[in-house]
Amino acid sequence: MRRGPARLVLLGAPGSGKGTQGAALASRLGLPYLSSGALLRRQAAAGTELGREAAGYLDRGDLVPDELVVALLRGALNARPSSGGYVLEGFPRTRAQAEELEALAPPDAAIFLAVPDEVARGRLERRAGQGRSDDAHREVVEHRLARFHDTAKPLLDFYRKRGILVDVDADAPPEAVTAAIARALGAGSRPSLG
Ligand code: ADP
Repeated sequence: MRRGPARLVLLGAPGSGKGTQGAALASRLGLPYLSSGALLRRQAAAGTELGREAAGYLDRGDLVPDELVVALLRGALNARPSSGGYVLEGFPRTRAQAEELEALAPPDAAIFLAVPDEVARGRLERRAGQGRSDDAHREVVEHRLARFHDTAKPLLDFYRKRGILVDVDADAPPEAVTAAIARALGAGSRPSLG
C-alpha cells in the first residue's frame, strides 16, 4: 500500500451524492477537493476556449470529450503537491480517463455511491432551481442517468480488478453515508479516516 495522504475517487450516478460526500471527505481528511463538473462549469462560465468547447456537452448532459476533461484534470492534479492526496469527484468517467489517472496519480480507493435511479431522480428534482441548468430539465437529467449507466460498468470493473473498489449504500442521509465510507475505508488496509 502506498504511504502518504489518501487519494480517493468518488463514483456514482448523478444525484448519488458525489459532491456532498466529496466535500465532506476532503474537509475531514484535509485534502484538496477536485470536482470535474465544477471545474468544467467554471471554465464554461469564464468563457475560456475549453469552456466554450465543453458548454454544449454540459447543457445536453453528454460526456465532455476525454481530451478536454483530461487536459483540465491534468492541470488541476499537477497544481497540487505530487506526493499529496486528493478527493476526486466526477473523474474518471471513462476507461480512458481511468488509465490517464493511473499515469498521473493512481488512487488508493474508488468509492462507489450506489443509489436506485428513483432516489437519484428525486434528489435532482429537489436540487432543480438551485442554479445548475442541467438539473432543471427532465430530459437532460434522464440523459445524464442513461450516460452513467452506459459507462459505469467498465469503470467499476477496472477498479474492482485493481482491488480498490469500495461499494457504499448511498440511499441514506448524508452523515450516515459519510460514516459508512469512513467505516469501509477504516476496515481494510486503505487510508483511515481516523
Ligand atoms: P452529475 O454527476 O450530477 O451529472 P457533474 O457535476 O459530475 O454532475 O457533471 C456535470 C456534467 O459535466 C456532466 O453531465 C458532463 O457533461 C460533464 N462532466 C463532468 N465530469 C466529466 C468527465 N469526467 N468526463 C466527461 N464529462 C464530464
